[in-house]
Amino acid sequence: MMSNSSHPVGEPLAIFGGTFDPVHYGHLRCAEEARVQLGLEKMYLLPSGTPPHRNVPQASTPQRLAMLRLALGEFPNLEIDDRETRRNGPSYMVDTLHELHTEFRGRPILLLLGQDVANDLHTWHEWERLFDFAHIVVLTRPGSVAEYRQDVAKKIDRRTCIDAQKLLDSQAGGVLYLAVTSVDVSATMIKSIIRLGRAPALMMPRAVWNYISENHLYLPV
Ligand code: ATP
Repeated sequence: MMSNSSHPVGEPLAIFGGTFDPVHYGHLRCAEEARVQLGLEKMYLLPSGTPPHRNVPQASTPQRLAMLRLALGEFPNLEIDDRETRRNGPSYMVDTLHELHTEFRGRPILLLLGQDVANDLHTWHEWERLFDFAHIVVLTRPGSVAEYRQDVAKKIDRRTCIDAQKLLDSQAGGVLYLAVTSVDVSATMIKSIIRLGRAPALMMPRAVWNYISENHLYLPV
């Protein structure tokens, strides 16, 4: 764990947001690998409530949370932060980061995003304010290269830091690229496999797949 002495601004708090509809090894392995690379004790998976810029999840919020809890059986250093699921109405990441920034004053906040999601940053509510509250850590994802809208690219280029340690000496505002082992899985891919009546073997923890089968999730309506 990074101690407070090596990080005068406090121990970093890392969050990995997503719809997790359903959670899979792409999320889990990348989050765990990033946690290890960043030298952190914990990494928080933060399921979205009502995503403002994504399709409404097929599984209910309690079901998405139940799948996450089951998944963590295999990943003891990952935890769930369910604050967005407890909010009514659309949940914006900028509000979540503001809240975390206030709650954990003095600790750098790391927001982890896959490259595909980072490429859509301009669609996020008040995206420029994200940098006021957090550093953004962009994870490599199979099939995605960095491709930002021009104003986002400018902002990101200016803030990109190649030294993770240096980034963590300040509380917010930087961007770090982290190469993680590629796991070519997506929730979309899993749902289409299930719709075809097949099992997405090895794409998610067994316990999550059992839950999906028992609850007849993602089947054609
Ligand atoms: P969908 O197929 O519906 O787009 P998804 O598999 O991308 O879903 P999300 O819950 O939307 O899952 O993703 C949450 C976060 O996890 C995003 O930042 C996304 O980029 C990242 N992510 C998901 N799968 C991978 C993967 N295989 N490798 C790296 N990052 C991933």
